[in-house]
Amino acid sequence: MEDKEKSLNFIEQIIEDDLAAGFPREKLRFRFPPEPNGYLHIGHAKSICLNFGLGEKYGAPVNLRFDDTNPEKEDPEFVEAIKRDIRWLGFQWDKELYASDYFEQLYEWAEDLIKRGLAYVDDQPQEVINAQRGTPDKPGIESPYRNRSVEENLDLFRRMRAGEFEEGSRVLRAKIDMSSPNMHLRDPIMYRIKKVPHHRTGDKWKIYPTYDWTHGQSDYIEQVSHSLCTLEFLPHRPLYDWFLDQIYEEGKVRPKQREFARLNLSYTVMSKRKLARLVEEGYVNGWDDPRMPTISGLRRRGYTPESIRDFSDRVGVAKRDNLIDIALLEFSIRDHLNKIAPRRMAVLNPVKLIIDNYPEGKTEWLKAENNPEDPAAGYREIPFSRELYIEREDFREQANRKFFRLTLGKEVRLKNAYIIKGEYVVKDDEGNIIEIHATYDPLSKSGSGTPESRRKVKGTLHWVSAPHARTAEVRLYDRLFTVEQPDADPEKDFTEFINPDSLKTVTAYIEPSLAEAKPGDRFQFQRLGYFIADPDSKPGRPVFNRTVTLKDTWAKLQKKQQK
Ligand code: ATP
Ligand code: MG
Repeated sequence: MEDKEKSLNFIEQIIEDDLAAGFPREKLRFRFPPEPNGYLHIGHAKSICLNFGLGEKYGAPVNLRFDDTNPEKEDPEFVEAIKRDIRWLGFQWDKELYASDYFEQLYEWAEDLIKRGLAYVDDQPQEVINAQRGTPDKPGIESPYRNRSVEENLDLFRRMRAGEFEEGSRVLRAKIDMSSPNMHLRDPIMYRIKKVPHHRTGDKWKIYPTYDWTHGQSDYIEQVSHSLCTLEFLPHRPLYDWFLDQIYEEGKVRPKQREFARLNLSYTVMSKRKLARLVEEGYVNGWDDPRMPTISGLRRRGYTPESIRDFSDRVGVAKRDNLIDIALLEFSIRDHLNKIAPRRMAVLNPVKLIIDNYPEGKTEWLKAENNPEDPAAGYREIPFSRELYIEREDFREQANRKFFRLTLGKEVRLKNAYIIKGEYVVKDDEGNIIEIHATYDPLSKSGSGTPESRRKVKGTLHWVSAPHARTAEVRLYDRLFTVEQPDADPEKDFTEFINPDSLKTVTAYIEPSLAEAKPGDRFQFQRLGYFIADPDSKPGRPVFNRTVTLKDTWAKLQKKQQK
């Protein structure tokens, strides 16, 4: 914690420098500007944590601004989902705002630019405009419409607004510099004609402003002091500044665009467009499928808001793009759930275990600790009887000395219960084991304080009492892709790398208390991993999603790197 106080990230350093140079602290203001064209993903969470984190650190307001300038892709459903996700992460915005609320102001400023000879209507089609733009080392060609009179430009622009022209037939362009080494300054487009209704402004507008003409001006209207975006916007910064130069008035806060590295995560894809394809093409069951890197998917998978915020802190704020290992995200959730998740027992791949010397028909209720990391979590009682289920993988007929689970003639402890010894097995006609028979040591009960109970045996197994067991559907999720960077190869479609085994569904035996789990309840199934009850659960018949296994691949990676 103290370390964190000491080292500022580079964005905080910029803010500190501004404050030191006299920028008034009370005028700090940030924003998170999602486009409501999809669900938020873990990359957005990074940006949310950054912006809202700065708000918390400096006691400054943070606006939620919907950047809604592409009506054909936007939907109020996404607006609601975005708000839900930000709240769930634990942040509260100051004002809820919409770039579309600024359309009139933007339009007035655009007319003003036309009147000052700084913008013109171009009648050429998009392909021609693109071709004339040239390349970074070759100047562009000026449009034949570039030097239209102010009157003609104004008249055409007003008629564009009125809906007199076809889509694609005209655009409004800023008149900057067709030979600028920065391609974004080669007379960028400010407005295009789109006869598409908007989710908020309805049919009012036939022209819509571009991102570049909207973003900085929205920041300025809201008096955002630091407008943080991802690195791909770095080359747009001179244009951001050029537009602000045209409208800036003395005495106002002049927003500053600064860029940080996008979050890229291994074994997943992150753009909304690609995530939308996974949904539309049926690779997953919706935006909140637990395999999706969306916030709603992670929530359903069992991630906690704390773990995502913690992950975002650990990733830090980088100046260069890099790929973050998904094991770090898994580390964060494991770390949190280890502290808060009650322990339970469940058997995913059951085989019958019969304790021959245990009385038939007897049930003992054994005391089991809910969470060794949290004594306040207390105890529960679990039933023990002569017939149990254990995991098939926890038994081997023939085992070497490194196998610390159950085998014939050797002892293991049953968690919270007794020490048992494997005796013999019963097989079906095909040679599959259908019963394992064992004997137990009645004096070895866990926590009973006898010398036998303190006897050290190598392995401990989880189990469920067969007559008391309830069943649950358990969804075992794995990575959605088989390679670290599914979209790295431009020759290949990322869907080629889908992991065919990203979801396995099993029927598990669970200890009886688990049958009453409510959607959203989280548990550690001992020795197996962390699980959350899914909204698909029915009373008495829960559905559990595996959030993450217990194996910490991240810590292992770190150790390897230190060697
Ligand atoms: P996508 O490419 O997934 O569609 P986007 O950038 O178009 O993302 P927006 O809704 O425009 O999505 O983004 C809102 C904010 O979130 C922007 O400030 C954007 O820079 C930031 N953001 C988006 N993706 C990431 C990411 N992977 N890492 C960090 N910030 C991100
Ligand atoms: Mg965007």
